[in-house]
This record gives sequence, structure tokens and C-alpha cells, in this order.
Amino acid sequence: MISRIDLRGSLPGDLRDVLPRAELDVEAALEKVRPICEDVRHRGAAAVRELTARFDGVELESTRVPVEELGRALAALDPAVRAALEESIRRARAVHRDQRRTDTTTRVVPGGTVTERWVPVDRVGLYVPGGRAVYPSSVVMNVVPAQEAGVDSLAVTSPAQKEFGGLPHPTILAACALLGVDEVYAVGGAQAVAMFAYGIEECAPATMVTGPGNIWVAAAKRLLKGRIGIDSEAGPTEIAILADETADPVHVAADLISQAEHDVIAASVLVTTSPELADAVEKELPGQVAATRHSERITEALSGRQSGIVLVSSLDDGLRVVDAYAAEHLEIQTADAAAVAARVRNAGAIFVGPYSPVSLGDYMAGSNHVLPTGGCACHSSGLSVQTFLRGIHVVEYSREALAGAAPHVCVLADAEDLPAHGAAVRARFDWGIPS
Ligand code: NAD
Repeated sequence: MISRIDLRGSLPGDLRDVLPRAELDVEAALEKVRPICEDVRHRGAAAVRELTARFDGVELESTRVPVEELGRALAALDPAVRAALEESIRRARAVHRDQRRTDTTTRVVPGGTVTERWVPVDRVGLYVPGGRAVYPSSVVMNVVPAQEAGVDSLAVTSPAQKEFGGLPHPTILAACALLGVDEVYAVGGAQAVAMFAYGIEECAPATMVTGPGNIWVAAAKRLLKGRIGIDSEAGPTEIAILADETADPVHVAADLISQAEHDVIAASVLVTTSPELADAVEKELPGQVAATRHSERITEALSGRQSGIVLVSSLDDGLRVVDAYAAEHLEIQTADAAAVAARVRNAGAIFVGPYSPVSLGDYMAGSNHVLPTGGCACHSSGLSVQTFLRGIHVVEYSREALAGAAPHVCVLADAEDLPAHGAAVRARFDWGIPS
């Protein structure tokens, strides 16, 4: 069901060449989404409707969800789901409120200051997946940091669902209502990212698009980045577990399965120093997979090229492997897990010890579940308040403070052969530099 890679002995120079990775990656998906995005750019809402009919099997009358549908969905929401969503919102808000930035002013010299002013982007489009599964939890993870950042204009989009009359899933609509979001669209996939990038008749363009999605959504974000701001490439889910002989194979198997449940190209990777644990997990998987609802999808994910068990000879080597892999989610299930976790350099989020499974982070830890995938965790962060903010430097110098800097400005301007730069300073002192 799951392949093995034996890296005991010396590790290869470029570990990424030997580690599991999906056959269909974002690069490969780019060519498929390019015509979709171009179509939306040139034909707007008509293209979005046709693409929704093709990919979601829904004939949309309007892409925009009527506001009354949000209130209706909230009124019909199961009270237990409502209570869980409210608790998820409360925890996420507590964490994200602490991420808010305050402006800082540095007095560089007497009379010369630089202030870093944090300004939210004007308008964001928030993507909430809804293909193989539906993700009201992603409404919380997108909306809460955007609200805490102070973004004025928030629009949520999620795929149209045939069984719900072409609306997004009702729990998604209810989550929007709980969070006070009333601009919601029934559009999914690459066409949703293009809709926010270019705007269509029914939806004004956004400054940024954020949120998780499948490979097509991630590829559209990569393609349109620049035209529109993006968070990270939060594509098909990955879990890596770094474990030693102290880990419980039942928990390890359950956690690998839990993330394989997202997508047939989700990646579940166990990195372990213990061949006995590897054997026990391999033995445990078939029974647990057979007992769960989405066993077909999970089997495909676990047996794909992107999943595997990697054997290493030491925890140091294990750390090198997980750093090279740069997983979206990394669990540490070893003795002294906190100390091992502190040594990790690359991961979207780290889950420490036996009682911090990734599923907790998916819903209720307070952390954000929109996280970089495909190795992007070595340069990108998960969604946060910071994602929605720009730090603008505000420079204010007095005449005396500029006079003090002027000789250095002129010397450096001449050294770069840009004498007009120096002249712009000298002009303020009747073309001479005061001594
Ligand atoms: P989705 O909303 O991301 O994608 C569904 C849309 O994909 C459809 O509306 C359709 O328009 C489009 N589509 C389907 N097949 C297509 C094709 N062949 N070509 C072009 N477009 C096509 O929902 P999903 O499919 O359930 O995927 C959700 C994804 O989000 C999973 O891969 C999951 O692992 C991932 N996820 C990632 C994170 C993260 O933070 N990285 C968090 C949660 C979920």
C-alpha cells in the first residue's frame, strides 16, 4: 500500500531527488489552467459560467450567492456544527489577534525618522475548496486573519454544488454568515482565481487571492501572481511525520490516513529511525484504511509516488530529510519531541508530541491551516495577519538631517554614476552641500 525508501547509510547530496513527490505538480498543471484563465480574462462571466458547467456540472444563473441564502443556511445549521465553528473562530481569532502589527518609528538621526506603517490590502478574494470535500473550516482560516488585519472588502468563493441547487455547500454559507461575510460566489477552481484577478461583470477584481485548493487552484495562483497578490501555493495536502521507536504505530497510521483523505494526490510521508515502527505502521494501515469512509481515495494517495516511508539511521539524518522535504504539515513523534521540533527549519506548521495531531490544526488548534505545499515551506509561510498587510516606509527628514546625509548621498550617487541623484539633494542647499 505504501512504498519504502531506505536512506540508512549516507544521505545523497540533493535529497529532493530521492524523496517522494507527486507526479502531477503545479508546474505540470500550469499549461492546463492557462487557457482557463485567459478565457475568464477575455469573456468574463460568460466564461466562468461555461467553465462551471464543464467542471462542476452546474448551470449558474448568477455567480453571486444571494445574501438571503447565507442567513437561511445559518438558520438551518446543525447546532453542534455551529458550536464547533464558533469555538474554531474563537481560537483562531485569539492567535491571529496576537499577530497584528503596530507601526514603528525609528529615529535614525536627530530630525530624521523612518516609520514602518502597516496597511492592509484593499480587497481580498478568499478561496474555500469544495471539490472532493467541502471546507467550512477554510472559511474560518481565510476570513479571521483578513478581518484581524483590517481588510475592508472581503469576498469568499467556493465551487457550485449540484446537489445544493448550484450554491456552495450550506455549511460554507453558514460559516460566512457567522463571520459577517456577505459577498459570496459559487465559483471554484482556476476560474475562481482568474475571476478575482481580472474581475468579471458580477465581481470586482481583488488585490489579493488567498486560500487552499487543489492542484488547479495552486497552478492558477502561480500563473496569475503579480497580476494579483497571493498567499502561498497552498495546494494538495502533505503530512510528514518524523518518528522514532517511541511513537505509537496506531497514531502514526491514523495521522497518515487523515491527510491522505484530502485528495488522491495528497502526500503522506513517514520518516523514521525505527524499522520496527515502519513495519508496524505498514501492518496497521490496511485495517484502518478499510474501516474508513473514503478508503478508495486514501488508498490511491498512500500508494502514489508522493507518499512513502523513509528509513534513516539517525534523528539528525531524519531532520535533514524533513528539512529537504519542507512539508506543509510536520509531526514530531519522538522522545523529547519539543527539542527535536526546535531544530526543524522548513515546514508549514509543526505538530509536537503525541497529543498534537494535524487534525487538531485543521480545525481547532487556533493555528492557521492554509499552509504552503510542494516544498514552498522553505520560502513561504502559512496564512496569517501578516499576509494581508504591507509595511510602508514613511521617511521624514528635516533640513538639518538632510544636510548631514547629503555628502554621503552625493558620494554614493557619483559612485553609481547617477549624478542627478546627488543634484536633487544639492538643489535644496542652493547647489552646494553645507559643511
Ligand atoms: P477545490 O475547490 O480545490 O477544487 C475543485 C475545483 O477544481 C472544481 O470547482 C473545478 O472547477 C476544478 N477542477 C476539477 N477538476 C479539474 C480539471 N481536471 N481541470 C481543471 N479544473 C478542475 O476542491 P478539491 O478538489 O476538493 O481540493 C481541495 C484541495 O485543497 C485538496 O487538494 C486539499 O488537499 C487541499 N487543501 C490544502 C490545504 C493547504 O493549506 N495546503 C488546506 C486544505 C485543503
